[in-house]
Amino acid sequence: MELKLYFLGSSCSAPTKERNLTSIALQFKGNVFLFDCAEGTQQQMMRADISYMKIDSIFFSHFHADHFLGLPGLLATMNMYERDSLLRIFGPRRVEEKVKLALKIAGLKPLFDIECIELKEGIVLKEKGFYIKAFKLEHNTECFGFTFKEEDKLGKFMREKAIALGVPVGPLFSKLQQGKAVHIGKRIIKPEQVLDYDKGRRGRKISIVLDTRPSEKYIKHIKHSDVLVHEAVFASDLMERAIETFHSTAKEAAEIAKKAECKKLYLTHFSTRYKNLGKLLSEAREVFQNTYIAKDLLVESLPLNPEERIVGR
Ligand SMILES: [Zn+2]
Ligand SMILES: [Zn+2]
Repeated sequence: MELKLYFLGSSCSAPTKERNLTSIALQFKGNVFLFDCAEGTQQQMMRADISYMKIDSIFFSHFHADHFLGLPGLLATMNMYERDSLLRIFGPRRVEEKVKLALKIAGLKPLFDIECIELKEGIVLKEKGFYIKAFKLEHNTECFGFTFKEEDKLGKFMREKAIALGVPVGPLFSKLQQGKAVHIGKRIIKPEQVLDYDKGRRGRKISIVLDTRPSEKYIKHIKHSDVLVHEAVFASDLMERAIETFHSTAKEAAEIAKKAECKKLYLTHFSTRYKNLGKLLSEAREVFQNTYIAKDLLVESLPLNPEERIVGR
């Protein structure tokens, strides 16, 4: 199942000649989820070859201008191209007010439905095969980080065995695959009878952490991410500035990745003062070797995790 991350921009506060403001798109099974909608997002999506018409939901970390100003334009374009499917917009407190404001700015009465959902910590979206979770960050306004988690595959489903045990083909199959026992008449069929647990597979996990001071509080949510995208506005010599503005340094982002035992770290949301990001990258790599820069228009495809036994471990 294809899972891709699109880095649409990597700048903080204002765009530069080289970098657009930070937005990130995630594509899974044909659905597109957009994390923040900075100015310039539509064009960056076109350049990255991902359709803004396929956006299923938009998740706002917070409503600072550099994360939000792309919304009025995006909604106007969706309307112009006659989007007719529901658009869900998640965000912190007053998300509905912000969306209404965006519509007002664009002078828009959309032809499609928009549902605004105020974020609370926990699972905010759950669909077949995955969920998206929100958790609080430490910024100077209410701000959320997000985790996308693909469902774990507990084991290989032995279809023939299930049929031989009298399980009818249909919804009971997926119940067993989810590790739930099923009743066939008076008999109970347990998942271990039809699942080869040695062929399980951990679902992929992506965490997106924008605009925060590093904090122990969100580490549990991003633990064991295959990919962590973390803001890194400053290099270490501007630590004081990072504290004042509730941002992180590249080294601090790396410390978080290490503590959370993530596999790979992408740094993003860089201050406009850095033309060259080499210093930030090397400071981070001293702490966490598998660190990369989330360059504009870079696409990360996440391969499936290897088969392993995950039940009972
Ligand atoms: Zn920001
Ligand atoms: Zn901010």
